[in-house]
Amino acid sequence: VSMRVAVVGAGASGLAALKCCLDEGLAATCFERSQDIGGLWRYAESIEEGRPSLYASVVSNTSKEMSAFSDFPYPEDFPVYLPHARLLEYLRRYMERFALRQHIQLGVSKDGRGRRDGAARGAAGSLGHHSFPQTTVVSVRKRPDFATSGQWDVVTEAGGTRTSHVFDAVMVCSGNFWDPSLPLHAFPGIEKFQGQYFHSRQYKHPDVFQGKRVLVVGMGNSGVDIAVEASRVATKVTLSTSRGAWVISRVFDHGYPWDMVFNTRFMSLLRNNLPGPLARGLISHRVNRWFKHENYGLQPEKSYPVREPVLNDDLPSYIITGRITIKPGVKEFKENSVVFYNCPEEEPVDIVVFCTGYNATFPFLEEADVKVENKHASLYKYVFPTHLQRPTLAVLGLIKTLGAIMPVAEMQARWVTRVFKGRRLMPVSPHPIFSKSLRFGLLFDEVLKIDWIVYLDEIASFIGAKPSVLALLFSDPKLAFTIFFGPCTSYQFRLQGPGRWDGARQAIRTQWDRMLKPTRTRATSVSSGPWPSLLTVFGFLLLMAAVVFAF
Ligand code: NAP
Repeated sequence: VSMRVAVVGAGASGLAALKCCLDEGLAATCFERSQDIGGLWRYAESIEEGRPSLYASVVSNTSKEMSAFSDFPYPEDFPVYLPHARLLEYLRRYMERFALRQHIQLGVSKDGRGRRDGAARGAAGSLGHHSFPQTTVVSVRKRPDFATSGQWDVVTEAGGTRTSHVFDAVMVCSGNFWDPSLPLHAFPGIEKFQGQYFHSRQYKHPDVFQGKRVLVVGMGNSGVDIAVEASRVATKVTLSTSRGAWVISRVFDHGYPWDMVFNTRFMSLLRNNLPGPLARGLISHRVNRWFKHENYGLQPEKSYPVREPVLNDDLPSYIITGRITIKPGVKEFKENSVVFYNCPEEEPVDIVVFCTGYNATFPFLEEADVKVENKHASLYKYVFPTHLQRPTLAVLGLIKTLGAIMPVAEMQARWVTRVFKGRRLMPVSPHPIFSKSLRFGLLFDEVLKIDWIVYLDEIASFIGAKPSVLALLFSDPKLAFTIFFGPCTSYQFRLQGPGRWDGARQAIRTQWDRMLKPTRTRATSVSSGPWPSLLTVFGFLLLMAAVVFAF
């Protein structure tokens, strides 16, 4: 009998988890509380309790080649960065391609209308204001014999009826962008404030800002996107940031996507082997080439070296044209205004948007199983709770790295499903993966501390899927160079090992074609490619590679 696995959530991580279970011959059931798949990427006009809520204009901030699952490249005609509807369409195609739908139990609406076929729904979803879903995983508890069986009691609720199931393992893919963090206690005087305020999760369209004086609090990606949109219709927009942030353009060197340039093995090797101050100096030099952050009030505080950069093409030009004003952290609110730290004058404000992020919450788990405290969780490699006797519970997609999350979640799923299977073969206690000889990864919110490629490689090496550049150098030198100097697309992790995909080599060879296809839409006879300069760089890189390989 195959091992039974419950996958909680049918967003990007959940779909990947389900597919990996099926690849490994595990009997998986994916529970999705809402009436459709897509998780974060399924836009709805209504805001539903327990579900993420996007604003209408959201576009992915990682490129399609870097965001693809490792055996399913994006269609070549999809844009390089994906509006939410296209990303959802990709997930639907993935579901269809790997016949996942029959393993997904979708929610039931309050009025009792049943599970509709996800594949048949429109791209933007059409959940009305009155059909809130009710099916949900309400609890996941260790069975009394957990120490020997590793099994879980999973209770689901649909249309008011609760059902108990027993599963051999559970993969938690419920996402971490649905429980808003709104720390009002950190904003003295907010109770006196007469204007309107809300969390970024409530924001859908900029029309609410028409003719208003707007304050956006928090300079994450939501804050900057919302400030930029608001400034097109508002009277005045102020963006308050206590820490500042690096702002990176999606349109990077020579117009290539930032992540295809930044996340190469060669760059990763440099970043991770240079002494800390030098690496930080290089990053600072690099990000200040577009505009000097200090002059725009955006320079990150030195004490916060690891905060997530912001991806936005408009912010500097909106600052320089006076549409957005950057201010320090909020000191206090008054009835109709706000006071910032180190600024004597009050700023009159009509609307405040708190873009203060999200809590990672798992209401169906026992706190003792996955403890999230102050945005830190005790998870081995950001996946397995460290203190369980059996490795049969895994949390996917919780890590934040500077790169696309989908290949990361997929790689975690490939590893996790093999650990689950291995447990069957080797029921020893404690499980070898928790042995003290291995380091424990404890924090999930400290981006830049863990390099995207380093993390992917590490997990891939657990299952024998890490590509060997050195071996390829002899058998397929062209591919070796593409892998080392080119973007680290996830197809690289399908060249060898379990789950090897015959199309991987071809997908790598054509990655730039798929990137260029949607933008090179007017053919010209004159080629103005960057080749001469690239060749020069290539020679240099070759030299560097020789040195690296020699050691
Ligand atoms: P976030 O990245 O967690 O940023 C929240 C910000 O709120 C903090 O950086 C901080 O800004 C401020 N803040 C938090 N706690 C505070 C407190 N107690 N007092 C004052 N300020 C506080 O949240 P987010 O922007 O909503 O983004 C959530 C995730 O979604 C991120 O991973 C982001 O990259 C992602 N996202 C992606 C897209 C996209 O793909 N296009 C769009 C939006 C969001 P300061 O330090 O500046 O004060």
